[in-house]
Amino acid sequence: MLYLTVGKLGDLLEAASKSRKIYVPVDEEPGKSSYKLWTPGTTVSRGLNTTRSAKDFFFPQTENLAGFRIENKKIQVLDPRRETEDFAVFGVRACDAASFGILDKVFLSEPVDTYYKNRREHGLILTMSCRRPAETCFCSVFGIDAANPGGDVSFTDDGAGWYIEAHTEKGAAFLAGLDGIFEDRDPAGAEAAKEKTREIVGRLPLSGLKTDAFGGGKTKDLFDRPEWAELSEACIGCGTCTFVCPTCQCYDIRDFDTGREIRRFRCWDSCMYSDFTKMAGGNPRLTQKERFRQRFMHKLVYFPENNEGEFGCVGCGRCLRSCPIHMNIVKVMKRLGEDDHEQ
Ligand code: SF4
Ligand code: SF4
Repeated sequence: MLYLTVGKLGDLLEAASKSRKIYVPVDEEPGKSSYKLWTPGTTVSRGLNTTRSAKDFFFPQTENLAGFRIENKKIQVLDPRRETEDFAVFGVRACDAASFGILDKVFLSEPVDTYYKNRREHGLILTMSCRRPAETCFCSVFGIDAANPGGDVSFTDDGAGWYIEAHTEKGAAFLAGLDGIFEDRDPAGAEAAKEKTREIVGRLPLSGLKTDAFGGGKTKDLFDRPEWAELSEACIGCGTCTFVCPTCQCYDIRDFDTGREIRRFRCWDSCMYSDFTKMAGGNPRLTQKERFRQRFMHKLVYFPENNEGEFGCVGCGRCLRSCPIHMNIVKVMKRLGEDDHEQ
């Protein structure tokens, strides 16, 4: 089995960067990292997840969709779409790798979002197993294996290096072009490293979180639960939870007059914002309680209802770390999943 020692990572990234741009997690301050373009000398973070997820590579925070110019009383429609260059994202953890599957269900179902599809086709996902999952991680609750993150190529971390496996044709072609960097090792080492990860995951405080109260068909049970009022009471509607979340995919489309043309762009939006559902006829979600409920019902009930039981959360724990009022999906699940709730 292919194996890469820590000291050879720079060689791999250098060789890989000759055929495509390669993005790696880089520490910004203790405990905070973000994806940056790799160039010689870049130090790859050995921390866990990036502050913002890797969804930005496929569903960026802002992008131009179309342009309009009026000349001689004729409207010219400008299409800004170009074939995306090949690129790779290195160090994607199992939770974020699973989030791409959720985003695919939204953006690649009919009508296909060609902007997203273009990036998905050109992006190579290089995943990494989690050697030291955090106490805020609960991916296993949703059936995700932190030891087996998938993607195009996975890197199984044993502390001194990585066992490497291709999972797609794209991944195999990528590895085939990187001769002379890898060692050959007994796959038993990879299995031992995976078992270690699973053992830690099994002991994490949130690994026992129950999903039984949620899933398709639970709208009637959960929608009018009185606990929503108390859970949402302190929510300030900042939208941070939705922006750091790898599976949140709400957006807005607006026009901007540059003076020379009109640019139609889309940008991330949040169901936590008061004007998110505002329409000419009014707003169906007038209170923060309704908006808050929508976010969690979507991930825990509506999404699984429409996607063969798959939940819209991957247990990355980002919302647990970033909400200013310390509210998060785990608290919602625990509170609503309690057996002795008022009927
Ligand atoms: S991050 Fe917290 S306060 Fe902000 S919208 Fe989300 S739940 Fe509400
Ligand atoms: S809801 Fe929270 S834990 Fe779940 S995927 Fe989003 S940020 Fe991660």
